Amino acid sequence: MQELVPQEVVVEAGAAQGPIFRNLRQTLPHVPFTVVEDPKAFWASLAAARDPMGSGKKSLFLVRHKGEFLKKCPGSNGQVCCNYFVVNFASNCPMECSYCYLQEYLANNPALKVFGNVEDLVAEADRLFSRHRRFFFRIGTGEITDSLALDPYIGFCAEVIPFFAAQPNALLELKTKTDRVEGILGLNPRGRVVVSWSMNPQRIIDDEERLTASFEQRLSAARRCQEAGYRLGFHFDPMIEYPGWERDYRDMVERIFATIDPRRVSWVSLGVLRSTPGLKRIMRERFPSTDLLCGEQVLCPDGKMRYFQPLRVSMYRKMLGWIRTAAPAVFVYLCMESKEVWEQVFGFAPSCEKELGKAILSRE
Ligand code: SF4
Repeated sequence: MQELVPQEVVVEAGAAQGPIFRNLRQTLPHVPFTVVEDPKAFWASLAAARDPMGSGKKSLFLVRHKGEFLKKCPGSNGQVCCNYFVVNFASNCPMECSYCYLQEYLANNPALKVFGNVEDLVAEADRLFSRHRRFFFRIGTGEITDSLALDPYIGFCAEVIPFFAAQPNALLELKTKTDRVEGILGLNPRGRVVVSWSMNPQRIIDDEERLTASFEQRLSAARRCQEAGYRLGFHFDPMIEYPGWERDYRDMVERIFATIDPRRVSWVSLGVLRSTPGLKRIMRERFPSTDLLCGEQVLCPDGKMRYFQPLRVSMYRKMLGWIRTAAPAVFVYLCMESKEVWEQVFGFAPSCEKELGKAILSRE
């Protein structure tokens, strides 16, 4: 996998202290650092760039996060939700997937930011977990960034894993398309951290997931994490339909479960390619040659475009069959799908988000 070194680091004066700042200084000695009182002028200049999103990924901004770090995953209107919380320690991602929804979601705020006040994040999480001891929190850091892409430089995971490892009622998920696991291998997750990979066949990685790790690199990183005591997750999302997709996805599933121990896999999710009319416009400008613009999709009640329902159901059933053959006991769920699709794929739909969240955690 290629290095993802930023061209420069711009530090908000209030964030020029603490472990993340020190780690950046130490790991990026040849990258220019600028400390500024207010980085907003830099962000405004991004708006004038020819490709604000592409330009935004090149400089790293270390700033203080002023609001709350933790929030409930927004899910998708009318779709079955899995009762997930997200903690945003960074915004945007240095990799370039043509289908990435951040291109639209962060269109007006494309700077690559890392929030340096990790002590506030930990204090907020501590207050929340202590207040609700009877609730079990499933928390992810990969909603508006990749959980590990910047970790070799910022060392965020080493700052928070010891905290999460000590929590009686929380589980942290680190979701990635990288193989950047060196910084976490020596820590003891004590069963409280799941490292999960978004997986696609190498053909899709080559065509659509620029700067990410190859399939083999992701799988090898997953095995190393498993050996180091981490539980694993796999997200076959977005599944993409193309001539011959069945062979590639079946091979991928077989390869994964021949390499890692399915008994240490906490969950597997399935989700098909999703877009919106706005995202398609952006993809057309930024990745005019992508094949993803050609496939037929329909607008669903939540405003997202997906393949026709019969095609989705058929894709999910096939994937589920390959997974069940390779790893009969592994827990599988659908991401952002309707109850009708759940019923056609599994023969039932969770009655509410709590039920699905509980089902996922009961496997732990
Ligand atoms: S790795 Fe994830 S966050 Fe980064 S560009 Fe790809 S889809 Fe977006």
